[in-house]
Amino acid sequence: MYGDRPYWNMDIEPFLNTPAMKDLQLEKLKIMLKRYLTHSSFHRKRMNDVGLTLDNVDAKVKSLEDFSKIVPMYTKETFRLHSQAQGGNMVRLMEDEMPVGVEDLILVNSTTGTTGEPTPYPLASKDVYDLWGETLCRVFWRGGARRDDRILQSFALSMVIAGTGTLMGLTRLGAMIIPVGAELGTERILSMVKYFKPTVFLGTPSLASYLLEKSEEKLGVPAKELGFKLLFCGGEPGAGVPELKETLEQGFGARLIDFGAALGGSCLHPEYQGMHFLGEDLCIYELVDPETKEPIPMEDGARGEAVFTIIEGDGLAWLRNSIGDIHEVTMSPCPCGNTGFRYKIVGRTDDMLKVKGVMVYPTQITGVVESFSPRVSGQYRIVLTQKPPMVVPPLEIKIERAPDFPPDKLPELEKEMLHEFHSRVKITPKIIWQEPGELERSTYKGQKFEKLYDQ
Ligand SMILES: [Zn+2]
Repeated sequence: MYGDRPYWNMDIEPFLNTPAMKDLQLEKLKIMLKRYLTHSSFHRKRMNDVGLTLDNVDAKVKSLEDFSKIVPMYTKETFRLHSQAQGGNMVRLMEDEMPVGVEDLILVNSTTGTTGEPTPYPLASKDVYDLWGETLCRVFWRGGARRDDRILQSFALSMVIAGTGTLMGLTRLGAMIIPVGAELGTERILSMVKYFKPTVFLGTPSLASYLLEKSEEKLGVPAKELGFKLLFCGGEPGAGVPELKETLEQGFGARLIDFGAALGGSCLHPEYQGMHFLGEDLCIYELVDPETKEPIPMEDGARGEAVFTIIEGDGLAWLRNSIGDIHEVTMSPCPCGNTGFRYKIVGRTDDMLKVKGVMVYPTQITGVVESFSPRVSGQYRIVLTQKPPMVVPPLEIKIERAPDFPPDKLPELEKEMLHEFHSRVKITPKIIWQEPGELERSTYKGQKFEKLYDQ
């Protein structure tokens, strides 16, 4: 193994989540705001509209709190309106928003636009290597990946940031990267594993599960003998799902680490602790109320919509951008002993329900229902009688009992579940029991709602 220092970046990482980082953020933020005011016509106008100019920015933005109060958020609607104004021309849109020119970009990752127009992730060299690449190196180093590792990059190469952006950025680590890309198909990915003997898997948990299942049949050896020591997963929940974490770690004889576009990665503590935010010197992280967009103080258990401002970028011009994720943060030190506050993804802003003032997300319901397996099948539906997010209590949830769970024991189970819902989600729902197999099996995994209102 090459290198035994605890962190990839010893100048920054020991100081994450300390007042020194806040000072550094403010200093870098002011430079960034001035760059926008000088070079980005789109952001200049938005800042001018709230009274910020090149002449008064130092006087008006004296703290990060001032910044949150003054500068408006960049939401999906902001993007939609800007795209409309540019006639859907993404090159013009990027030129207008970035503090650099499009000729400075070396890579544009983009969503594929399944729900409308694609969202571009414009990347200049600095974004690829010093922002995203640097963050990846921090996550991978903490996991134990080093120069002598061989990394199987199996994310779809067109996948936003996880694909080509990750492939290029991670070259900074100095390890051997073997880009196979999900496009190659699972059969051929398996054959690449056989020939190049990667030690680190990089891809979705679904693909890791597939490799685990097929290894014996296709390669003649159990997954444990493939030689993987680390599994870096993203794109879907992985390390945060206890059963999945155990299956993959046991099956491969490797450690599973989640990482995500929010500049964080999970740690090696045996129990999932959320993801450590590792990009504090590169990006300002805020939580806001998903409805009012008012800032929420960062303290243990605080929950809100995560908002990002990149302060060390060129093309990726995020100025109070939301990616639609709801996070819960923990500011106190992690039992793993490493730095960086932690966040867990609790849901999407689009899925939010409001039950008597309490914000509820399907992922929380899933968590409670799954914790009662094998007494329940794991299938459930949230019944909505009116358009979300408002729900008139009680929230109705159809839950299926497991085939071998005796129906006469349901009242007892219900009591236990209600207690769990109350303590974990802060609601007391109405449980409507379903017979095994009664709920339709959906191939669309996000199908958690039964909508009884006119859409
Ligand atoms: Zn930790």
